[in-house]
Parts: sequence; structure tokens; C-alpha cells
Amino acid sequence: MKPIKEMLLKMRSDLAQEISRRSKVTTEPGMQDIGDILDLVSEERTRELDILLTDREKRKLLQIDDALDKIEDNTYGQCEECGTKIPRARLKVLPFAKYCVECQEKNEREEKYTREEPDEGIRKVQMAEAEE
Ligand SMILES: [Zn+2]
Repeated sequence: MKPIKEMLLKMRSDLAQEISRRSKVTTEPGMQDIGDILDLVSEERTRELDILLTDREKRKLLQIDDALDKIEDNTYGQCEECGTKIPRARLKVLPFAKYCVECQEKNEREEKYTREEPDEGIRKVQMAEAEE
């Protein structure tokens, strides 16, 4: 399990560095510690970070944190839908996979029809806030 955990931590810190690099321009000094920034992100408290992070990055960060939590809980590598063990090869490619291939494909088929509208709504709210 250890290599995957390291991989996740690496992804997390890469993402944090990217955020940190961008945030230097817009956030106050003293807020540059990666750990601090990540804590704020996971608590979803800072509006500035909300603007800095793209939806995609936010989702990725949440997925990474989720996977790390599961490693701690010893539930990592199980499909959330059917409880099947997710193949190791799949986890190496997609370390934060929540579902086995079958369930993932099923979910993606369903999401295609439901996803687009809510996402668009969220983006509009964020843009309105950024204009304040
Ligand atoms: Zn499954």
C-alpha cells in the first residue's frame, strides 16, 4: 500500500505547489505555506482559494484526500458501489479510483445526462462572487 500512498502525497503536493505559486500573486504574504493552504482548501473556508482553484483542481484535491482517508481507514481499493476489490493495476494508473471498472463505466454513462447543468450553475455563482 505504501507506494500508492506516496504517489497520492506527491500528487497532493504538486497540486499544492501549483496553487501556492499562483496564490503568491493574489493572497497576502505569510499565506504561502503549502500545508496551511491545503488545510484551508480542505476546510473550504477561503474564498480566494475558491477562485484560485479550478473546479477540476478542487475535484482532484478532494479525490486525493478521499483516497488518503481510505488508506487510513483500511478501506482503500474497494469499490464504493459494489465492494469489489479494485485491481491493483487500475489503482496504479488511477490511484484515487473509487469504483471498479464496471461501476465506473456505469456511473459515467449516467452522469453524462445529469452532470452538465449543475456544473454550469456552480460556475456562474463563482463568477458572480469574483466580481464583487
Ligand atoms: Zn464496483
